[in-house]
Amino acid sequence: MNAPEPLDIIEAAAPAPRRSRQARVVWGSRVVTVGGDAPVRVQSMTNTDTVDAIGTAIQVKELAVAGSELVRITVNTPEAAEAVPYLRDQLDRMGVDVPLVGDFHYNGHRLLTDYPAMAQALSKYRINPGNVGKGDKRDRQFAMMVEAAAKYDKVVRIGVNWGSLDQELLVELMDQNARRAQPVDAKQVMYQALIQSALTSAEVARELGLNPDNIIISCKVSGVQDLVSVYRALARRCDYALHLGLTEAGMGTKGTVASATALAILLQEGIGDTIRVSLTPQPGEARTQEVVVAMEILQSLGLRAFNPSVTACPGCGRTTSTTFQELAKQIDDFLRAQMPVWKAKYPGVENLKVAVMGCIVNGPGESKHADIGISLPGTGEAPAAPVFIDGEKALTLRGEGIATEFHKLVESYIERRFGSVTAAH
Ligand code: SF4
Repeated sequence: MNAPEPLDIIEAAAPAPRRSRQARVVWGSRVVTVGGDAPVRVQSMTNTDTVDAIGTAIQVKELAVAGSELVRITVNTPEAAEAVPYLRDQLDRMGVDVPLVGDFHYNGHRLLTDYPAMAQALSKYRINPGNVGKGDKRDRQFAMMVEAAAKYDKVVRIGVNWGSLDQELLVELMDQNARRAQPVDAKQVMYQALIQSALTSAEVARELGLNPDNIIISCKVSGVQDLVSVYRALARRCDYALHLGLTEAGMGTKGTVASATALAILLQEGIGDTIRVSLTPQPGEARTQEVVVAMEILQSLGLRAFNPSVTACPGCGRTTSTTFQELAKQIDDFLRAQMPVWKAKYPGVENLKVAVMGCIVNGPGESKHADIGISLPGTGEAPAAPVFIDGEKALTLRGEGIATEFHKLVESYIERRFGSVTAAH
């Protein structure tokens, strides 16, 4: 073998900084900062009828417990607007202080004016400039919504959407483009319309008295490359906090992968202060899945830590049993299930790294990189499973009870390492 080349320093990949303005989304004593030096926030949206305040409160609680830091609800009718303060009250009684975001389209100006208790119970309003009204009504109706936000000191997300783009603006830009000596691609005009709609609306909101720190912008589209192009341009052109998400991402694997792909590219470039993964739940799937995916994206990028991570090998021809897959799943489920209690009991436990590996090839190496890891015996290996703790081989488990014993070892490791933090305080 040739001698190795001299050590070359490889720059560590890290998300690029983009320092935006910081918005404060407030409910009672709970303050969720968005942008600036705040961590990237996880947002979600209910799919219940807001008129059903109890059903909506239950879903908001599920989303909040899963990790959603802001929850958006639909406010589409007078009945829904009337239900909002009752819903907020229910949540407060349940001890859920997650800020609520009201999603308005078409009649938001009326609802925010006619239902002041609703306007106060929400912590943030989402206004879609494409669905505010047409012609001269549009400016007046947009102004009514912004005035409500300024009056109650609420944060506004100006949320432009590919599917509900301001048609008057789009037509105007298309006409302008047609008159050019060399017209640009129609897609470029769409990008421009999305960004212009958002930034012009933000300018108008500021002129109407809205604190610029209280403005968050989103320009959502459903194609990955389109989203990347639009947000890169948007990030260059403004310093507002940006809400990021691939709209109508779809179901299951497709929606998850498309969202993760798009969001990861932008987050790595420092673009995005709050995210939502717009998954269509599969039949029987919990609404909380969108929160789980959003958290996984942020944790995979190393931007935030929510849950201990379990590294498991994919398995191959060296593993003839499913023991290691079952153990990896058991440990993962166990750690996640404990987190609501452990977060308070064991500060820092979300940074724990566990490895469950299937054979000697990568097992010991990967286990040494984890805080605690186990290398299960592959086909033809002696029925012994070395356990590594803090990079050192600590003991070897044998026999039928390997899974139970490893569980216990993980628990006692957590108690020893993170429990002492509590004791010291
Ligand atoms: S660690 Fe072993 S069992 Fe797991 S994928 Fe690698 S070679 Fe296969």
